[in-house]
Amino acid sequence: MRAWYSLQAWQDESAAAHAVEGAVALPAVGSVLAGACGLCGSRRGFAAGTGAGVDPREGLRCLACGCNARQRAAATVLLEAMAGATAARGARAYLGEQASPLFVALRRKLPGLQGSEFATGLVRRLRMSAWLWRHGVPGWIRHRDITALGFATAGLDAVASLDVLEHVPRYEAALAEFARVLRPGGVLVSTVPFYEAQARSETIARLRDDGLVEFSGAPEYHGDPRGGGVPCFHHFGWDLVGALRQAGFTDAAMVRAWRPDAGLPRGVWVLRALR
Ligand SMILES: [Zn+2]
Repeated sequence: MRAWYSLQAWQDESAAAHAVEGAVALPAVGSVLAGACGLCGSRRGFAAGTGAGVDPREGLRCLACGCNARQRAAATVLLEAMAGATAARGARAYLGEQASPLFVALRRKLPGLQGSEFATGLVRRLRMSAWLWRHGVPGWIRHRDITALGFATAGLDAVASLDVLEHVPRYEAALAEFARVLRPGGVLVSTVPFYEAQARSETIARLRDDGLVEFSGAPEYHGDPRGGGVPCFHHFGWDLVGALRQAGFTDAAMVRAWRPDAGLPRGVWVLRALR
């Protein structure tokens, strides 16, 4: 896995990187891709799905832990970044998705892992809690807003937030909150739909004072597996790395997680930053 720090550096090598990745064949629809899961360690393989084509980011679910390529990529980057700096088993970590196979699988590696969902409704939280119990995790789903997490300052060793920032109108507030709750040396790992050829991020929608979402162009909603679309506010480019430094992070980079033998036949962008 390689880290890039700027659009220029990536542009210099992107053609070569894509050529290397493109030489690895994607599995056929309906088949199982062989490999060892970088998160749960299973060798059962990865389901290529039954849809129109194989999605090397949102698909390729591990047949053992159920995590897709993006979740496994982020977990691998997180666990690697934490190794050495912290005894992982004693780590205080937070993941911004609790009712998910990633939470269940990651909690086995990080018993101190806490999670939450952006879910203000009690009924919805109860339903998600029941899902969690069925998957062997006791406890309740908590509601947290990532712009105001409610953790003590410098109280966490690691924070992970996957495909959430693009849905937060003031994402800079979320970055500042991540910086606040992480201890010096703590690790932030995040994924967003990343526009790798774009230097600047683009804001495509704003939240009006009356609470309605106003898109500047074509509306863009992302699927939420538990129903309803979520409006997308940002198309992130390389200035996201700068925004992280601005928020108080050091060594912010975009890591391209590419491990064909671990169910990642195409690179998946994972943002990694140290507090
Ligand atoms: Zn797995």
